[in-house]
Amino acid sequence: MKQHPGGGEISDTEQENMLSLLGLYLHIPFCRSKCSYCDFYSMPCAERQEARKLMQSYTDALLLHMEDYAGAASHHAVDTVFIGGGTPTVLPVSMLRILLDQVDRCFNLTENAEITIEANPETVSRSSLRSLRRAGVNRLSMGLQSANDSELRLLGRIHDSNGFGAAFADARAAGIGNINIDLMYGIPGQTPESLRRTLEYAVALEPEHISLYGLKIEENTPFGRQREALEPYLPDEDTELEMYLDAIDFLASSGFIQYEISNFAREGYACRHNLKYWRCEEYLGLGPAAHSYLGGVRFAYTRNFSDYIKALEEPDKGVIILSERSRIDEDERAGEYIMLGLRLTEGVDMGSFAERFGFDFTAADNVRRKLHMYVENGFMTADAGRLALTPKGMFVSNYIISSLIPCDREEYAGLRSGTEL
Ligand code: SF4
Repeated sequence: MKQHPGGGEISDTEQENMLSLLGLYLHIPFCRSKCSYCDFYSMPCAERQEARKLMQSYTDALLLHMEDYAGAASHHAVDTVFIGGGTPTVLPVSMLRILLDQVDRCFNLTENAEITIEANPETVSRSSLRSLRRAGVNRLSMGLQSANDSELRLLGRIHDSNGFGAAFADARAAGIGNINIDLMYGIPGQTPESLRRTLEYAVALEPEHISLYGLKIEENTPFGRQREALEPYLPDEDTELEMYLDAIDFLASSGFIQYEISNFAREGYACRHNLKYWRCEEYLGLGPAAHSYLGGVRFAYTRNFSDYIKALEEPDKGVIILSERSRIDEDERAGEYIMLGLRLTEGVDMGSFAERFGFDFTAADNVRRKLHMYVENGFMTADAGRLALTPKGMFVSNYIISSLIPCDREEYAGLRSGTEL
């Protein structure tokens, strides 16, 4: 209990209400082995003894980093924690528990905080999941990607669908009542029928949340290096669109509400942490390659693992780990608000946008013309002052969104002064 400025005590709940909310992301850059398509910042850890040492040093560094932020974060209440990676559950449970204890010690965790951990089937057991549940984890995000074992092998995944099913059952038995399953479409050789079987398999497990991402061939990955060889097996754009639209229909008929381009949830189970990104709310990301948006500043930490550890263990050595830092001005914030808001099925409310940023971004003739065309052709809706992408529009969201955002400062200035009207 603290004192009210005018006397009397402030309850914990009142205190939480007075603090601004913050999402906390902890990056765990380890995986059992690297998947063929993955360009996330993570390293394979097969060598047990050596890996254990690295993980211990990394855990120690993260503990220090959280401690560094304890003062600054005292003005915030953390209502979501997301431990992502990599595969966080590659870390021994004892280390994960120490990290979770430190989160609790250094940050004002709200009573109903959503605490998610990402996991892969081969790195969890019923007892490890039970232990994580006891440590406060209340949401699990598990990578299935496909229920077709030959697709899994092609992706370089080290689990099979049976292993996934067993891990899912373990999570339920451990008392985790909110589980996400990650799936993928556009896998080489995948057909709409095979994706449908994967969706049926996932839905039959009765998760609360499903994410469905389109495979992208990234350059610095084994898939990127085999692009030419893979090309003939990749579903073409029409087939991918068919897969995406069929998945949306199937998931809707199975009770999953689409709330973002790639995310579907049962009522009340949208991921609160990820919603912060799309709603331009504040979050702090710790760990190499982790990004933050805090106090109007966007920043990220280095992708260099040893620099990260050295900077935290030996702060007087002057190792710089901030790799980006920029203050986001009103124009950029307005652009991000449109770009991220349109990813959500709720879209962007034009009235709220104008109130927040002081101009109507659809006032420019060229934007009005494009909007009209997108609506006419079924890519967008514009109802009751709210702009949103349709499922067909979501499939080509990058193109549509970038065509609507003002290109430069002059365009913003024109919109603000009304000369574009
Ligand atoms: S498990 Fe996830 S993070 Fe790790 S290599 Fe595979 S896709 Fe990347």
